[in-house]
Amino acid sequence: MKWTLIEALISKSRKTPDIPMFLQRVDRPLCCKDITEFTGYPANDDELYLVGDQDIYWEEGVKGRASMYDFRVHGSPESLREIARFTCRHCSKKYFTFQFT
Ligand SMILES: [Zn+2]
Repeated sequence: MKWTLIEALISKSRKTPDIPMFLQRVDRPLCCKDITEFTGYPANDDELYLVGDQDIYWEEGVKGRASMYDFRVHGSPESLREIARFTCRHCSKKYFTFQFT
């Protein structure tokens, strides 16, 4: 990634009002050379299970799904706000991040 792109993304990210509260660090998924759009947190356990099943797990990059993210088996996190959801405006891929409190 070229430095100019990183700069552009950072300045864009600062202007975006709907940035989620990152509990540990800012780790916003990137896709199609752009930042993804934050779409909110799972509203309930059913939505959480869908996220775990369908969305791409992001942790400083696309990460393979660890079995601990099978929320049906291991239960919900303490707060659903630990799961932040994102969508790429360009290709509509969905991502999620998981930061423990
Ligand atoms: Zn994309």
